[in-house]
Amino acid sequence: MISSEHLDELMICRLDTERRTVEPCSIVIFGASGDLTARKLIPALYHLHQEGLLPEEYRIIGFARSEKTDASWRTELEEALTRFSRSKSVEKESWAEFSSKVHYCRGDIDDAASFKKLKDLVAGFGAGPLSHNLLFYLAISPSHFALAVGQLCRAGLICRDDPHGWQRVVVEKPFGHDLVSARELNRELTQHAHEHQIFRIDHYLGKETVQNILTFRFSNAIFERLWSRDCIDHVQITVSESLGVGRRGGYYEEAGALRDMVQNHILQVMSLIAMEPLDAEPIRNEKVKLLESIRPIPPDLVSQMVVRGQYRAGTLNGKPQPAYRDEPLVKPGSNVETYAALKLHVDNWRWSGVPFYLRTGKGLPMSASEVRIQFRPTPHVLFAARCGPKLDANSLTVRLQPNEGITLRMNGKVPGTSMQIRPVRMHFSYDAEFGAYTPEAYERLLLDALAGDATLFLRRDEVEAAWSLVDPIRTGWEGRDLSEAEFYTAGTWGPKPADELLARAGHAWREPQPLERTDTPTPH
Ligand code: NDP
Repeated sequence: MISSEHLDELMICRLDTERRTVEPCSIVIFGASGDLTARKLIPALYHLHQEGLLPEEYRIIGFARSEKTDASWRTELEEALTRFSRSKSVEKESWAEFSSKVHYCRGDIDDAASFKKLKDLVAGFGAGPLSHNLLFYLAISPSHFALAVGQLCRAGLICRDDPHGWQRVVVEKPFGHDLVSARELNRELTQHAHEHQIFRIDHYLGKETVQNILTFRFSNAIFERLWSRDCIDHVQITVSESLGVGRRGGYYEEAGALRDMVQNHILQVMSLIAMEPLDAEPIRNEKVKLLESIRPIPPDLVSQMVVRGQYRAGTLNGKPQPAYRDEPLVKPGSNVETYAALKLHVDNWRWSGVPFYLRTGKGLPMSASEVRIQFRPTPHVLFAARCGPKLDANSLTVRLQPNEGITLRMNGKVPGTSMQIRPVRMHFSYDAEFGAYTPEAYERLLLDALAGDATLFLRRDEVEAAWSLVDPIRTGWEGRDLSEAEFYTAGTWGPKPADELLARAGHAWREPQPLERTDTPTPH
């Protein structure tokens, strides 16, 4: 007899059979001595190599100003792999093969001669694809993005139409700090490269759980039928962090929660949750349409629709946490928000009248990212009439991290001779279903960039649409000092006005439930 697990295996529907294979190429990482390269990029490339997903022939070149040789950079990377890779180890044989393809080019982005040196190094790989198929990864400060691409173009390393191969640029976040700067960066980049050569990364889109949102919605007829104002009361998206800003105070002073999380990750998740089913349209068209259907919040309505907050001293994970204003590199009287909560409306037929509540913050009780679809309550008859608000409405929670999975919450009878009702759950866990292995987001995204598939990267108009939503909120906050009510104690769920934002519509935040206990409205 065939086991049910075996049957599931037989039912696998393979959709990427037409995925383009990665051609032989060279990958140039600008920012070779930086944090992102050591913690994410090299571990991702090494795992892709181990799994045989990189082409037979490839090279990796690191570019930065620090003094290093090929050998010393390789030694540093080997150490980084033992600390940061998901396997936390290096396999001798595969490392020997991988590291033999790794080179270091000392250079300065401000200096045209460094790009000539880079070009000579690449040319040394021969006249074939290793010197024509080039992926440039900009793991550098955003202020250097445009200059780096300009230098690459002037050195002849990026061509708009190269008959001998392809050149692509992966651009890290943040992409601009407002609409004007994002437009300007887009203009500068597209002076030197076609839009299809530019891959703006948002690593959230590389996460398995985020990709699964579309699979879940559009391969399960039962849920898609419920996915509208007819059945859904409201949606909550929470991305919480149980850490303060720590050593990143300097960066955070320029960013704040709205720019750091809402403009990119949270609006991306919202667009996948709310976009229309795909037909012939590429996914990115549908995401842009959704972002453009979100009703903008004009500056004079910001105080009614958006709450900002900043953490005060408190306790996080059992340890004392200083106030944001006392963190290193933070201005003593800083008004930068470490918390933001928004109420958004989508003006289309599907979502008319359904609020989307988005919140993110640092210094909160736990680190968790999840989407909660809160269904409408049952009619006020039978059980609902007798239980009142205690009979909770159904909900579906998509847990993006940790304990990745999906939970459907409903009500059930407590076994026994008496009649008692309480919430029960149906639960899909990635770990239980597929085992612990999930590739890092950067593995998937690097592979897609190498294969020329931009689906999981942000298009120019997507980035600009997101800034158009966020900019007026910042304008509404400008010149306004934080009020007493906008502070929250580190280790609590944000400032009081965030509760009031939902309470006005009869709603309440739900605490993320990574440990799967009975969920209760968020206490402060
Ligand atoms: P780091 O400050 O750790 O690294 C910056 C890198 O840029 C260093 O390798 C530095 O090397 C190099 N660099 C600086 N100036 C020059 C120059 N003039 N010429 C050549 N190289 C230069 O930054 P991160 O790695 O943390 O971040 C890199 C990018 O990735 C940023 O845009 C960031 O926003 C983004 N990002 C980072 C994440 C992370 O977890 N670290 C997460 C998400 C995005 P050297 O001094 O040797 O020249």
